[in-house]
Amino acid sequence: MLNQKKISRAGSVTIPAHLRRELGLEPGEVLDVSHTNKGDIVLKRSRGFCLFCKSDRELVMYDGRFVCKTCIDRMKKEADHV
Ligand SMILES: [Zn+2]
Repeated sequence: MLNQKKISRAGSVTIPAHLRRELGLEPGEVLDVSHTNKGDIVLKRSRGFCLFCKSDRELVMYDGRFVCKTCIDRMKKEADHV
């Protein structure tokens, strides 16, 4: 789906709400901004919050969402009891 957004006077661009929901983007998440040789702008998720507990420590990107090591360990333990 193509979305067109205008750059504000302050240089801001709003990421569409449906994309924020779909990708689990939260206020405060940090994005790296870079550009390609063709002039395309690339936003890369670099720091965020755990999907489950909102921790910002020891994060792993899984299926487009950040999950912390503590929650991964908890899920592993619960899966062992299934
Ligand atoms: Zn967590």
